[in-house]
Amino acid sequence: MSQPISARRPLVAGNWKLHNTLAESEALAKGLVEACGNTLQADSGVEVAVAPVFTALATVGAALAGSPIALASQDIYWETSGAFTGQVGPTQLVDVGCTYAIIGHSERRQLFGETDAWVQNKIRAALAHKLAPIVCVGESLETRESGAAESFVVEQVRLALADLSAEQLATVVIAYEPIWAIGTGRTASPADAQSMHAAIRAAVSTMCGAEVASGMRILYGGSVKPENAGDLLSQQDIDGALVGGASLKASSFSDIVRAAG
Ligand code: PEP
Repeated sequence: MSQPISARRPLVAGNWKLHNTLAESEALAKGLVEACGNTLQADSGVEVAVAPVFTALATVGAALAGSPIALASQDIYWETSGAFTGQVGPTQLVDVGCTYAIIGHSERRQLFGETDAWVQNKIRAALAHKLAPIVCVGESLETRESGAAESFVVEQVRLALADLSAEQLATVVIAYEPIWAIGTGRTASPADAQSMHAAIRAAVSTMCGAEVASGMRILYGGSVKPENAGDLLSQQDIDGALVGGASLKASSFSDIVRAAG
């Protein structure tokens, strides 16, 4: 069922988390356009997206205008309007120019109590508004050490994708991010990451059919840096990266983009 990486367009997405003022976000976006420009213009086939804080989406969107770098949100709420203080819904995200929404990041699951049911709602809201969801899944160190990593992650994927149509599934991106590798400098070995990606793809195939599974992009995230990106991204079932820390510098992020090309 696995097929060459060239059949799936690699995606490298930068998650800027809670970093940067407006001016810093704008400078980083402009730096990225410059640093990634030649690679992307040479039609490397790589797709690139960045997810700044909500308050910087418009500014970063303006800085990216005319470039192939897409705008993503770090989260999404499922209602479009109403008395939901503090939330940002799909209508607002589309309005500001987002085309991707990161959903179910482990920091949201761990620090803010986000459940699989919320993740499901968010995926459906994103899809209903033509935002491509980047759905994060991944196990804790405890789960990995207990030997249950694969069943845990596969169940997260199963819950996230349940009942979606083939048309909806075509735009869904999964990001496998082992929690113990996020922001820690520890990375899954390329072989371990490939093994989990293959298990995710096999589960998607069982649930949604081989065609959907072979077209679905599965990104790896967890301390991806220019030094390890090549080895990770050359694995057969790794179709790009979700990058935190190394996306905060134009030079390191563009090096990762180049490694994906
Ligand atoms: C992330 O937060 O999605 C992430 C992968 O972070 P880092 O690259 O810093 O580990």
